[in-house]
Amino acid sequence: MKVCKFGGSSLADAARVSMVCDIVSSDNDRRIAVVSAPGKRDDRDTKVTDLLITCAMKKLAGEPYEEAVERVVARFREIQVELELEESVIDDIQADLFSRMESDSSDSGEFTDLLKAAGEDNCAKLVASALRARGCNAKYVNPRDAGMLLSDEFGNAELLPESYENLAGLSDESDVIIFPGFFGYTRGGKVATFPRGGSDITGSILAAAVKADAYENFTDVDSVFAADPRIVPDVQPIKELTFREMRELAYAGFSVLHDEAIVPAVRAGIPIYVKNTGRPSLPGTKIVPQHVDVDSRVVGIACSDGFCTIYVSKYLMNREVGFGRRLLQVLEEEGLSYEHTPSGIDSMSIILREDALGAEKEKHVLDRMRNELGIDDVDIERGLALVMIVGEGMHYSVGVAAKATKALSDAEVNIEMMNQGSSEISMMFGVKAEDRKRAVEYLYRAFFG
Ligand code: ASP
Repeated sequence: MKVCKFGGSSLADAARVSMVCDIVSSDNDRRIAVVSAPGKRDDRDTKVTDLLITCAMKKLAGEPYEEAVERVVARFREIQVELELEESVIDDIQADLFSRMESDSSDSGEFTDLLKAAGEDNCAKLVASALRARGCNAKYVNPRDAGMLLSDEFGNAELLPESYENLAGLSDESDVIIFPGFFGYTRGGKVATFPRGGSDITGSILAAAVKADAYENFTDVDSVFAADPRIVPDVQPIKELTFREMRELAYAGFSVLHDEAIVPAVRAGIPIYVKNTGRPSLPGTKIVPQHVDVDSRVVGIACSDGFCTIYVSKYLMNREVGFGRRLLQVLEEEGLSYEHTPSGIDSMSIILREDALGAEKEKHVLDRMRNELGIDDVDIERGLALVMIVGEGMHYSVGVAAKATKALSDAEVNIEMMNQGSSEISMMFGVKAEDRKRAVEYLYRAFFG
């Protein structure tokens, strides 16, 4: 049994919905399909979820909202007309949207979630009727009826553990289930959504609940690639990734699958496939708990900018008990989370995401460090990128660091910081943001030829 999930870009228009129907009906093992709301048809388009947020905001601001709701209806109508589905499909969607708009909006979080969920909910109904129109026994299932219970943190809800037992019942259904992603219900019966992009979470939860043999995540790329294709145009696809590798790559900018979203499927040991809706026969990337053979491969090179380093120095820092704690306590008290803390005998660097530290906050934090820690010097450097080479096999192989530093030296990229050892499966280099592309290019050539 397979659970498959289709992202918004795979449902953006009638042609793509039709491809989704082909994929679902072409394999009898595909018993559950989770769908997102229709996404962007092109770069200038707006996702249905964003249109729905606009509707909610208009009502909350006391503004007329009819036109905004009609824009959403029009997105669904375009698909219904082109697929020649019954008119009643669109009448139901329109009635549903207006009835949501007329509900109680005294709690803005609750009300916004009710609207946000309408994209997935109506899309699932539409896909189910498109499948039925082709003669496939497909059935829309509402998350409330299936027992998908979420916490009442609206917009950022989490699954309540008892849901797994409830959802396990879905495996007994004889029809193909079309299940809306992104939302569930609180114990009090209110609609609550996961964070944005949350249909991946729904898919992963359902795969775990029904103990599927595979979780297929269909999106708009052929696979996860070994480096950013915008930097390395002829980049190789990654055939197999472990969850740990995926997580390290996602941290440094790979964004095909939200790493936290797949945790339920990973915990249940279910292999995950990232596949392209437009080219479903391609193998895609398989994400597994463990590689069968660990070789010395580096699987990917990721890169992300937007970091800064706070460099602190104090003579005899290594002998001062509690210095590190006091330094990090300043960050804690200022509500800042840090990413890495490489250190020397008399110095320590703290790497943070730049956007968390505006000019005013920066001055305040550095002043506190100067005044409260008796340090000799503190400095901040912005515009840092982190380049990461990732691979489970690295730990067992000799010469990976030498190869990487040689590549960076050939690229004439100065290494501002290096971090290896705290993670067995990645090696990280801090470089100036303007050098990041060259760094990735040269590292890619060194490891992938
Ligand atoms: N439609 C929702 C969003 O745009 C959820 C999803 O697509 O996974 O965030």
